[in-house]
Amino acid sequence: YLNCRMAQRVATSDGAAKKTSRVRVAVRLRPYMGGEDEKDEGPCVRGLDSQNLEIVNWRNATETVKYHFDVFHDEKTTQQEVFLSSVKPILPHILTGQNASVFAYGPTGAGKTHTMMGSSDQPGVIPRAVREVFKLVKVKADEEGWDYSIGMSYLEIYNEKVLDLLSPSSQDLPIRENKDKNIFIPGLTHTTISCFSDFDKQFVPASLNRTTASTKLNQRSSRSHAILLIKVVRTQRAAPHRKQTGKLYLIDLAGSEDNRRTGNQGIRLKESGAINLSLFTLNKVVDSLNSSAAVRVPYRDSKLTRLLQDSLGGSSHSVMITNIAPEYKYYFDTFGALNFASKSKLVVNKPFTCETVAVPAMPVKRARDDHTAGGSGT
Ligand code: ADP
Ligand code: MG
Repeated sequence: YLNCRMAQRVATSDGAAKKTSRVRVAVRLRPYMGGEDEKDEGPCVRGLDSQNLEIVNWRNATETVKYHFDVFHDEKTTQQEVFLSSVKPILPHILTGQNASVFAYGPTGAGKTHTMMGSSDQPGVIPRAVREVFKLVKVKADEEGWDYSIGMSYLEIYNEKVLDLLSPSSQDLPIRENKDKNIFIPGLTHTTISCFSDFDKQFVPASLNRTTASTKLNQRSSRSHAILLIKVVRTQRAAPHRKQTGKLYLIDLAGSEDNRRTGNQGIRLKESGAINLSLFTLNKVVDSLNSSAAVRVPYRDSKLTRLLQDSLGGSSHSVMITNIAPEYKYYFDTFGALNFASKSKLVVNKPFTCETVAVPAMPVKRARDDHTAGGSGT
């Protein structure tokens, strides 16, 4: 722990902390699905280039609203490309005692689970990241004098309760902080894994449990945060036997849709309130980390942000992948997700529908020319 803290101080003193504490924001647009669009209205969102997209302005159909992000992944982006650009670069840090987190944010149905878990044909961020961590450790262990050990935990935050997905009978677990400011959950199952199939054997059934429970309990999977923790501990073989711990959180967040609008009642309404608390607090935390002003970061206001306190901001490396869907029925949820993800938007005076006809799906060249316009609005 001591060495972990020392590593963080080094990062701070060379000025890197300011830069790395920002949460990188990527947006991924999933493909248009005809079956999701009863009125067959076509998409209401489209990409402009690798950082900008636009959405129809519902207040005035002759305008679009243009948003700028660190990265924009269009509907043709593969799982491999998302992993390479948004996740792979942060993984080496967890081998040197630093922390990292990757979130999938966005409305239910927009592709969070596809992005994080994927399918056997198209594996997502989680299986790719775990394979990569094993690969990095293998290379490092061969060339340096450290012993590495990799472990996993898998939990869910549901109604502000912390539940162990590797020990489904367990009750709400507490979140604690030790004297070195490391966050931990006493009683949470932590299993050592020595290869990818070790991981898969734990992760797949635990994920299935969660999905099965979800159909019984009002799509629980869209109302809870699923949090996978991969922990890398390394110990120096020679004296002074330094020990460093790096944590990687891979998170499939609850749906960001506003449940008040969809008319949820009773237990659902209560769930929405709790979800809103954790997501609402995450919004505030990400906002304060990404703002240039020195503001208090309200980690303690929800379970999710409390858990992530040592892995979001500070010297940790974080990326939020905001998933959006192009159909009109998602319009307001998409608008909400984009407004959260970007503080930079610009109303552009040109009709969306006319352009859909006149311009090819991805007008990369043209859009790149007026790219600067995307960052200028606030
Ligand atoms: P969420 O977890 O946000 O509710 P899902 O990941 O379950 O959304 O995605 C909803 C549906 O859209 C699923 O059938 C999924 O396979 C499909 N989907 C999502 N993103 C993509 C994508 N990039 N390419 C192809 N299909 C996708
Ligand atoms: Mg999902």
